Amino acid sequence: MKRALLNVDYTNDFVAEDGALTCGTPGQKLHDYIVELTKEFYANGDYVAFLIDIHYENDVLHPESELFPPHNIAGTAGRKLYGELEDLYQEIKDSQNVEYFDKTRYSAFTGTNLELQLRAREIEELHIVGVCTDICVLHTAVDAYNKGFKIVVHEKGVASFNQQGHDWALEHFEYTLGGKVI
Ligand code: ZN
Repeated sequence: MKRALLNVDYTNDFVAEDGALTCGTPGQKLHDYIVELTKEFYANGDYVAFLIDIHYENDVLHPESELFPPHNIAGTAGRKLYGELEDLYQEIKDSQNVEYFDKTRYSAFTGTNLELQLRAREIEELHIVGVCTDICVLHTAVDAYNKGFKIVVHEKGVASFNQQGHDWALEHFEYTLGGKVI
């Protein structure tokens, strides 16, 4: 079965100490695991997708404007991938197996051609890492489930600023979406 790695929102704004909407330490702790897993998938010739939230200043029509402080604004340092993941991405980005998607909603499937890219490669199993477990990772996993993909969520690769939400989501992946949490 062909597999892909979905790298969700591991950016400075969501992870760094001074990030605009940071998960803080739980997010920073994922760094080495996500970098190593990304290297492993890439070295194996698997498809690696970076699915990164994008916002624009003063976008009053966006529903998140009323929910969260401004974050992942286009062109800012806050939107860059966190730590060595940014360096790794720069190294591998020209590969046909690596793709970067701008996403504007929680789910990586909303408003992107991610599904078309996965279908074209006959990928059936999606490995998911990133933040936040109970927001963008969750909504992406729910859509993946509804579209018939198999889901594998890496526990050492996901975190949230809401520990309760994180724990709930991990159970949801397994018991409601039929995914594996490894
Ligand atoms: Zn957002």
